[in-house]
Amino acid sequence: MTGRLVSEVFAGRFGMDHPLTDSAILRNNGMTLAFTTDSYVVDPIFFPGGDIGKLAVFGTVNDLAVSGATPAYLTASFIIEEGFLVSDLITIACSMADAAEKSSVKIVTGDTKVVEKGKCHGLFITTAGIGILPEKHARIGSGEDVRPGDRLLINGSLGNHSVAVLGARKDLVFKTNILSDCAPLNHLIAAVLSSGSSIRFMRDITRGGLATVLNELAAMTCKDILIEEDSIPVDEPVRGICEILGFDPLCLANEGKLLIVAGEKDYEEVLRIMRSDPLGSGSAVIGEITSPGKGMVSMNTSTGGRRIVDYPQGILLPRIC
Ligand code: MG
Repeated sequence: MTGRLVSEVFAGRFGMDHPLTDSAILRNNGMTLAFTTDSYVVDPIFFPGGDIGKLAVFGTVNDLAVSGATPAYLTASFIIEEGFLVSDLITIACSMADAAEKSSVKIVTGDTKVVEKGKCHGLFITTAGIGILPEKHARIGSGEDVRPGDRLLINGSLGNHSVAVLGARKDLVFKTNILSDCAPLNHLIAAVLSSGSSIRFMRDITRGGLATVLNELAAMTCKDILIEEDSIPVDEPVRGICEILGFDPLCLANEGKLLIVAGEKDYEEVLRIMRSDPLGSGSAVIGEITSPGKGMVSMNTSTGGRRIVDYPQGILLPRIC
């Protein structure tokens, strides 16, 4: 439904060519830039391992980084509900400043609007970001270079962000020690790209989870994808909660995870570089591009079967980011 909303209501009217990539690619006078924007409405605003401000900075940094760009400048706009505590706003501003420093970006402009009590739920933040994009990396977000035999890698366990946020909501009955994975991926990505390995595609695995990213990639490239359930890292407490509540870890949101598609000859080197980064110590090869095809994603399951991996349907977890 999100995909339909974007394509049927907005993208055509705005003349957008590639509405489903992480960043727009802008070329002007020999310079190539990546440009992206995102809004954050997470509930609650503070959750184990992060807060809405940290999410807003890292989310935009990661969308630029997976496009092959070096994130440089961010904007930040705040919609604040009347009565929201200034002390909480200061905490969030400090958190954003810290997140910007960790990501080596500067927040350079922004906006504030205050709306009446009851007209917005505490605080919403919109960030936009610009990154410098070397022309040799400009196709990474498009998937154009993906080919059969390429391997799929992810940098660690899935679902921690979703479970941390759900656990922080008072209407749920369980308590966990699980932290959000929210983190800036640009340094890990820079290490991978500077190795010169053949990187065919990258995307951060956020709302909609790995299932969405894989289906978008399969649709963009018209190639089939096969993954191995046993290779997909999921932390034990997250796995347990998924079993109790009937969630599929493949559909859960993350805020510090990405999918990298690497060439057949280079993927072991890419895995080694990813594992040497603190944000990639749990990296794994999870599958491969199998053939030109109908854009179908399948998975060899732990129990020895094979199933189709489809887009998550409906609103699984609202206001997760
Ligand atoms: Mg993204």
